[in-house]
Amino acid sequence: MALIVQKFGGTSVGSIERIQAVAQKVIATCKQGHQVVVVVSAMSGETDRLLALSREISPQPGARELDVLLSTGEQVTIALLSMALFEMGCAAESFTGAQVGILTDSVHSRARIRNIDALRVSQALQDGKVVVVAGFQGIDEKGDITTLGRGGSDTTAVAMAAALEADECRIYTDVDGVYTADPRIVNKAKRIDRIAYEEMLEMASLGSKVLQIRSVEFASKYNISLRVLSTFKDGPGTLITNEDESMEQVLISGIAHNRDEAKLTIRGVPDTPGIASRILGPIAAANIEVDMIIQNIGDDNSTNFTFTVHRNDYCRGLEILQNIAEELGADGVAGDDSIVKISVVGLGMRSHAGIASQMFAVLAEEGINIQMISTSEIKISVVVDEKYLELGVRALHSAFGLDEGD
Ligand code: ASP
Ligand code: MG
Repeated sequence: MALIVQKFGGTSVGSIERIQAVAQKVIATCKQGHQVVVVVSAMSGETDRLLALSREISPQPGARELDVLLSTGEQVTIALLSMALFEMGCAAESFTGAQVGILTDSVHSRARIRNIDALRVSQALQDGKVVVVAGFQGIDEKGDITTLGRGGSDTTAVAMAAALEADECRIYTDVDGVYTADPRIVNKAKRIDRIAYEEMLEMASLGSKVLQIRSVEFASKYNISLRVLSTFKDGPGTLITNEDESMEQVLISGIAHNRDEAKLTIRGVPDTPGIASRILGPIAAANIEVDMIIQNIGDDNSTNFTFTVHRNDYCRGLEILQNIAEELGADGVAGDDSIVKISVVGLGMRSHAGIASQMFAVLAEEGINIQMISTSEIKISVVVDEKYLELGVRALHSAFGLDEGD
């Protein structure tokens, strides 16, 4: 007998029929002799609907009240799923985040889990019940409801698996695994059988939105085997786990892309110590996250400084940069919000030279100009004009031997 955590996303519980189908899947796992903890999201579209309601009242609703509101979505699903299980003859009990004892910090709308007191859940499991837990929510020390950020039910599932020392955490979603590239762009993209935590973290942070990044960090920290699989189609899915030797042999695991960034440049600032912090200090103070950074030194002791931010922060970032430019007596500022980032990711890069030059050669052959470059141990990213997104991703996918049938 194993203990399995099964998490179902919004689409998987999007209607009464689908909730009933999920109940059947849960019962099938029980019939294999396993104990099951189910974590569910709100029904699809529900979190957005609640957000929209709050915005009709206030452009910036209070964070505490927003969490009280958004957490209701998952509470609806746990009750309905438990009822569906009961109707099918399976004893089940639902729990909100607070009832499970998911203790978080007090950072509303993006709280982090500190501790889980899984006593009640263990008790219910021992009583032979299926436990149904509301994803995405917790409670802070004061007893206030918190939420874990969009997509946070993934993290609830992994955290439950860690707290209960579960054998596997299965994330059921509307795709049948993690792919070597976005299949909507590359029709020859393949499902990946196994991928290392580290690679998945890169893929997730680069825009493969299958899993919330924090859930992968959590899984890696506590060594939880995570499997992403489809609710609607049987199959092995993708196992996210510790790296092993066979993974090292695969040079490149995938081509990721991200359309959510924009580029900001400040031109002709003095090339003196402290300039980078004078520029990025106010950006950080405005809570704007910076991704890539490039600084070029000219002949005349002045430098151009370029960085990327999330597209939602583009206008605010540009405004702040204009003020900084005035203060520093810079030549000017420029911005571009029609860029994309394309990345190749693979553990094999650690032991192989020449991946970067191969990547640049492929892009050059397609006439794609590279605007920025950044690298990590297992990733190379470039910023290019967004009109080259499809062309660039497809060319790299094929050049690195990832196409189906290769
Ligand atoms: N319902 C939340 C959201 O839509 C959390 C989740 O689905 O994981 O982001
Ligand atoms: Mg999700």
